[in-house]
Amino acid sequence: MPEPETGPEQEIGKAVLLGLCPKCGGKTLFDGLLKFAPRCRSCGLDYTQFNVGDGPAAFLTLIVGAIIAVLAIWLQLSFEPPFWVHAVLWVPLTTVLVIGGLRMAKAWLLGAEYRRRAGEGRLRD
Ligand SMILES: [Zn+2]
Repeated sequence: MPEPETGPEQEIGKAVLLGLCPKCGGKTLFDGLLKFAPRCRSCGLDYTQFNVGDGPAAFLTLIVGAIIAVLAIWLQLSFEPPFWVHAVLWVPLTTVLVIGGLRMAKAWLLGAEYRRRAGEGRLRD
């Protein structure tokens, strides 16, 4: 039976979820929880040439903040739990969503920069 074909969207989704190198697909993008490795350990692609910046952090603050606020308001209005329930639920959930979201957003942006050959403006010789 032939393997199901994977389109570019599936490849990008997999690379974003797993932190894969945009050039060779090795699982080498991150060196720690949120820090990019200096270069790919398998193909040598220099990750320092890409500048993802603070865009993902600002976006995620808004998105995660909105999700958590809506959930907390819903929980309070539906069940009226004691305050400690909110602290136990939302602090770890916010942490997980921010770290997971930042990893995926940074991997996606670095992949997009790689695919579009984005970089600093240069004058032609
Ligand atoms: Zn690589």
